Amino acid sequence: MTEASGESGRKKSRRTLLAHAGRHPFAQEGFVNTPVYRGSTVLFPTAEDFERHRQPYTYATKGTPTTRGLEEAWSELSGATTTVLAPSGLAAIALALMTATKAGDHLLVTDSAYGPTRIFCDGVLKRFGVETQYYDPRLGAGVGALMRENTSAILAESPGSLTMEVQDVPAIAAAAAARGACVILDNTWATPLFFPPFERGVDINVEAGTKYLSGHADLLLGLVSANAKWATRLRNSFDAFAMVPGGDDAFLALRGLRTMELRLREQQRAGLEIAQWLEGRSEVLRLLHPALPAHPDHALWKRDFSGAAGVFSVVLNPAPKPCVDAFLNALTLFGIGYSWGGYESLVIPFDCARSRTATCFAPEGPCLRFSIGLEDVEDLKADLAAAFERMGAAAASL
Ligand SMILES: *Cc1c(COP(=O)(O)O)cnc(C)c1O
Repeated sequence: MTEASGESGRKKSRRTLLAHAGRHPFAQEGFVNTPVYRGSTVLFPTAEDFERHRQPYTYATKGTPTTRGLEEAWSELSGATTTVLAPSGLAAIALALMTATKAGDHLLVTDSAYGPTRIFCDGVLKRFGVETQYYDPRLGAGVGALMRENTSAILAESPGSLTMEVQDVPAIAAAAAARGACVILDNTWATPLFFPPFERGVDINVEAGTKYLSGHADLLLGLVSANAKWATRLRNSFDAFAMVPGGDDAFLALRGLRTMELRLREQQRAGLEIAQWLEGRSEVLRLLHPALPAHPDHALWKRDFSGAAGVFSVVLNPAPKPCVDAFLNALTLFGIGYSWGGYESLVIPFDCARSRTATCFAPEGPCLRFSIGLEDVEDLKADLAAAFERMGAAAASL
């Protein structure tokens, strides 16, 4: 695991950092955790203080000790110059894009981007005069050839949503840097623990804290971090929008942060074990999991990542829809629902053939995305095995 510098000179591991970052107990009467600050107004002792704004907090849209604690911890963890929060992962993506583009610009977005990211680009950004062009996530340095005079930003997401293509972020960053464009990465899957964005050349890193940071499916949150070059512009657009999360969500995210490494490691282990088990099932055609050697981007994942999250997809052998539905409906431990990264296992069917425009995703069978939670792996396998049996029975009765 990548090391972070400690004050003693000895390098502290990220795991230690997660336990200590963003906490200031003696600013809170010694209490270990910063409490939830619910507030709007912050009082100034005198007229002169008001005029000079010479105190750390001035109004709650600009931050409270709870939100600043989280920003500080996330910056330390990801190696960022600054971090701002947003009320959801999607709001964080919108903020990053509004920071890096302006009317008249050309924007390159990976074809494998999270669906709502596309909706934001094709709707709001288009209305504001930014033209989005989608690119093949496997293009790597080839994105350079798509860049125009007015290309101001490249958005990457690695691995891509649902289809799990790993992107060559360092090569994309080198191509962007040569032309002065901003590289934005949606790093939600790996988190800074498994992919250190700024060491790989990213300018603005986005994380849906809703997923692994929360870890408990109990909040919505986004984090946007920037390197020194983009920090001021990011902070300025954050201040202009004042899209701030509530203190309770920041508090819960800080609580999630303390165990994030443990959960991710366990979900990596369980996810791989279940993926390998699925690989051996006759109902399964192939796995879309970058940590499996058969994945086409496995070498790239191995080069750039230090771990894998517990989220992956599966292409089933061709089966009629009622059989896939029978499989999903028979699951008792896996819930059918959006989002992921919580302690509870989830599954969704997906068909993204029509939403891709730069590439052709034509799977040979029905697709499912799994998020492995913290349940016992043998129990999860038994649940899947029983559901496959129901699927077989449904096929026999058609
Ligand atoms: C879920 C998700 C988001 C959005 O997060 P929300 O908090 O649900 O808005 C963004 N990017 C990726 C890759 C995601 O999986």
